[in-house]
Amino acid sequence: MKITDIECRVLLVPDLRQDITSSAQDDIVVLVHTDEGITGIGESDVNPWMARACIEAPGTHTMGLGLKEMLIGENPVDTERLWEKLYVGSCMNGRRGAVIHAMGAIDMALWDIRGKAAGVPCYQLMGESPRTAIQPYASLQPNGESYEEYKASLVEWVLRAKELGFHAAKLEVTLSGPYNHSGLDEPDEKVTETVAACRAAVGGDFTLMVDVQYAWPDADTALRTLRDWEELDIYFIETPLPVDDLEGMARLAAESPVDTAAGEWLSTRHEFADLLDRGGVHVAQPDVGRVGGITEALRVCDMAAERGRRIVPHCWKTGIGIAASAHLAAVTPHCPFIEFLPAELTDSQLRQHLVQEDLQIVDGEVRVPDQPGLGIELDMDALRRFEQD
Ligand SMILES: [Mg+2]
Repeated sequence: MKITDIECRVLLVPDLRQDITSSAQDDIVVLVHTDEGITGIGESDVNPWMARACIEAPGTHTMGLGLKEMLIGENPVDTERLWEKLYVGSCMNGRRGAVIHAMGAIDMALWDIRGKAAGVPCYQLMGESPRTAIQPYASLQPNGESYEEYKASLVEWVLRAKELGFHAAKLEVTLSGPYNHSGLDEPDEKVTETVAACRAAVGGDFTLMVDVQYAWPDADTALRTLRDWEELDIYFIETPLPVDDLEGMARLAAESPVDTAAGEWLSTRHEFADLLDRGGVHVAQPDVGRVGGITEALRVCDMAAERGRRIVPHCWKTGIGIAASAHLAAVTPHCPFIEFLPAELTDSQLRQHLVQEDLQIVDGEVRVPDQPGLGIELDMDALRRFEQD
């Protein structure tokens, strides 16, 4: 089998708002075509025009080759060798960041082809004794024009998540910090007040995580709030500090009563080595697309296992990324949850419509797709509706 073409489709929701913090408003969908009529589907969480440029730009020398050019004519099922070829060939421009995120969408599509060609779901090719059901957590970021409104809608959403069958949810509580553009600027006591209100609403028998989106400038500031959370039974605090403050993360890992989680923006196992070893993070959160695809995400899972840490993949995208996370989790026993934007509790039309069938929650779990490949079908009408030039 040979790769004949790679198509990059740039998608945006029609109601895009540049002033909010949600990457579920855009998508790059990569379709890898073959001479045997099998097409692989992948996506990545990265500015889609940037990713398209990373894939389609022609190369100019041996250390700066184009991703697409390197793949035409190659055998798509040779995923590890192709990852290495792309990484080495793009090294002067890539190694980290957007080029790796773009490679992640391609790698996901190649795994989809591998599964489809073999007639088995991807997870069967990814590891030993896979689980067939995994636990998603509902990722919740409602709207609100004032603090009281935001707190009330978060309480309402976490209760709805419980009604929908989830046993776990993550609260996005960004009331200050560099990525808070809500107009709210509240003292840290309000973060605790919001988390406590959600805990009181759902009761004790429900897992709650909290994401403050890099809100606190340093470990001391974070600890002032986190030390009040012991009673609230929070599973992890996500991205409490600026992304490159690994010394601060190490202090939190040692001193915070709440476990630390981070890694959503990172690319490659090399960045995760820093986060795990210097930052001491308890829960590593690779995004399957951004980290460099399924091939690289599996390596990060192995690294976490060697160090006795957990994996909870980041996914703020569509059913494509959710399926990739589900297959990854199936072969990763130290992955207790995957991130999941409930279609009923998100504004993202891409999340709601791009993939035909959504995974169904039963008793807090979803079944890993068991059709060949990633096990997803795109709604091509929706794709055309969201597509940009
Ligand atoms: Mg996050």
